[in-house]
Amino acid sequence: MKPKISVLFFSIIISFLISASSFAQDKTTDNIDFYPINHASFIIQAGTLTIHVDPVGETDDYKDLEKPEILLITHTHHDHLNVKVVKYLQQKNTTILGPKEVIDQLGFGQVIENGESHINDFNNVKIDAIPMYNTTKERLNFHKKGEGNGYVVTINDKRIYVAGDTEDIPEMRNLKNIDHAFICMNLPYTMTVEQAASAVLEFKPKNVYPYHYRGQDGMSDINKFRELVSDNPEINVKNLKWY
Ligand code: ZN
Ligand code: ZN
Repeated sequence: MKPKISVLFFSIIISFLISASSFAQDKTTDNIDFYPINHASFIIQAGTLTIHVDPVGETDDYKDLEKPEILLITHTHHDHLNVKVVKYLQQKNTTILGPKEVIDQLGFGQVIENGESHINDFNNVKIDAIPMYNTTKERLNFHKKGEGNGYVVTINDKRIYVAGDTEDIPEMRNLKNIDHAFICMNLPYTMTVEQAASAVLEFKPKNVYPYHYRGQDGMSDINKFRELVSDNPEINVKNLKWY
């Protein structure tokens, strides 16, 4: 009996290690890695280039993490903008980008509005600001068009879409050639998993990461999202450890 037990024990440990590492981060085949921090906060790592997206929480959460060359903020809501954390992360060479309301609250950084682009030749990165807003009548007040930015980040010809807080707007559905898409899905603030899946099936990113899925009544059903998106087997749904 003894060898069987140790084999079983060994395989449990191995499967635990595999699942732990695959949930903690996503190491892609295109040398762009994603590190979820919480909810809407994450890091894009491409070689030595570090991009922080919507860093919030405690400064302690960031003490062992790479500091950013680029810091992207989508809008002013507390689950996206924390002035203390931004100040903690900011280095001499950090480019901070956000819509006007964000830059006004920070008192520093560069304004980028819907439809504008920022080109960073030094790091070979292009950032396009995409609208993010609600379209359902009872949700219109959460996010108004023009106040926040989603982003398309292009690094070495790979395109990463960060939705921000939005519904399945035409600007999302019309995106082309997205390699990695971070898609919100929570109520009442953004959209349902059905809306999110419908948009994803239309713009067909290669990989999609559900994020920002904790809502007023708990977590959205990301398994349902995966099931709906499986209509197109060429789209990979990747679950990271956001919570
Ligand atoms: Zn919001
Ligand atoms: Zn939010």
